[in-house]
Amino acid sequence: MGSEGIANRHPRRAGLRNWWARPLRHRWSPLAMKGETARALPVVVPVAVVGLVGIVAAIIDLIADPPPPSVLAGVAGLLTAATVAEAFPLPIEGVNVGTTSLAIVSIVATAVIYGWPEAAVVGFLTMALVELARKRPLERVVFNTGLYVCAAMLAGLAAAPLRGDSLGSIVGGACLGSAAFYLVDMVFLSAVVARTRRTRFLSSLGRYLSSTALPFFVMASLVVTLIVLWNRSPFISLVVLGPLITVALHERWLHRALERLREFDRLKDEFIAVISHELRTPLTSVYGAALTLQKRDVDKDVQDALLQIVSDEAGRLARLLDDALSASRLHAERETFEIAPIDGAEVARAVVDAARSRLPEGLELEFVSLNGLRPVAADRDKLRQVLVNLMENAIKYSPDGGKIEIRVDRAGPAMRFTVRDEGIGIAPEEQSRIFERFHRLDPNMTRGVGGTGLGLYICRELVQRMGGRIWVNSREGSGSTFSFDLPLV
Ligand code: ADP
Repeated sequence: MGSEGIANRHPRRAGLRNWWARPLRHRWSPLAMKGETARALPVVVPVAVVGLVGIVAAIIDLIADPPPPSVLAGVAGLLTAATVAEAFPLPIEGVNVGTTSLAIVSIVATAVIYGWPEAAVVGFLTMALVELARKRPLERVVFNTGLYVCAAMLAGLAAAPLRGDSLGSIVGGACLGSAAFYLVDMVFLSAVVARTRRTRFLSSLGRYLSSTALPFFVMASLVVTLIVLWNRSPFISLVVLGPLITVALHERWLHRALERLREFDRLKDEFIAVISHELRTPLTSVYGAALTLQKRDVDKDVQDALLQIVSDEAGRLARLLDDALSASRLHAERETFEIAPIDGAEVARAVVDAARSRLPEGLELEFVSLNGLRPVAADRDKLRQVLVNLMENAIKYSPDGGKIEIRVDRAGPAMRFTVRDEGIGIAPEEQSRIFERFHRLDPNMTRGVGGTGLGLYICRELVQRMGGRIWVNSREGSGSTFSFDLPLV
């Protein structure tokens, strides 16, 4: 499968984590964890039953006393807003419980403005529509929908005694309704988490309340604002959409940036572990060879073999350090380029010839190039570095041997370099990530071949800064083809 162009984009964003509307989304996957599902049942079943009874009671109430069209239109508007908010959850930094959704604002507003039956219906439809569209497991849809119905009903019942047009009753009702929704949500969340993870209910509840208190106050003030405006005219309340959308987009952007930073941080730590290991292996060989050479009775053949080890391993150490320095210079944009017209085919041929002399057994190297290609505009050393990296990878990741083909071709206004191997290949989901800094595949997938995860990052940066692009086509188990284009002069 190909991933053309993907390499030239930025690193993948990490997933979002939210807390409110689907509190258990990331942490509790009932189908995947049968044991946890069984333990959660004493919470899930009552919530689902109360939710079912609640929604049936709400429908009976609405049929017995049908709301006028203006109310139906208002409820439909709030339902739309709740569903959109639910479909685009908001990650809130520092809050790592389930998911956050601004849907609560619309649902509590429905409860305060129209009453508990309308709120129960809005809560039910919001969650059911979004969860079903996401093809969640049935028990999860049932639990989350039940939770929303219970919370919405309670919000309506809590706000009911304060119903009225005065500012005081609107603010009081909104605050009570928000608090009721929030408490129901947190209590059930803590209960289910306490059961599935075998922790104490009160300590879970305390932790969740303290980590979500601030977002709750923000939501509660949004509910107050929305209801006060709605009281004037439902159309005027649309003005809250502007700041809400801006805040939501900004929050998502910020969260993605932070997730990316965390991912880099993790990769950096991993890199330190990997590079220490990679440095230790050649160092151990050099040290061992030096100790043996110190003994006087080593015969000439052994001496030559040991000196060869010392020189090979020293070369490996130098290449490792060169890669680390090169990656750091590229990252800091301190690498300088001397672009000039060069014979790309000649550079590639030289790289192939050099590799041929130390080709492991079972591998075959083939170089294909058309005659009379126009010169390419590139930095000779950097082009060589890219080709050496790709060749070394092709060799490294072909542990069972096979053919490696290096091809230089014309592709429109560019010169195309291709390094094809018949090695272990790369899984489709990894193909876009291997060009990221420090990214390496799981050692199980690479059959334990060592590396630092810098080679392809360096290749991508060098090619891009010479005005080209690089990509990979690969099939797991049957080989990879790395290609890059550089502009012709
Ligand atoms: P490394 O030093 O780990 O080889 P690279 O940045 O060169 O780092 O490559 C990143 C990852 O991409 C490697 O860890 C490997 O899993 C995968 N990879 C690179 N080239 C190939 C190839 N020719 N065949 C299979 N996998 C490859």
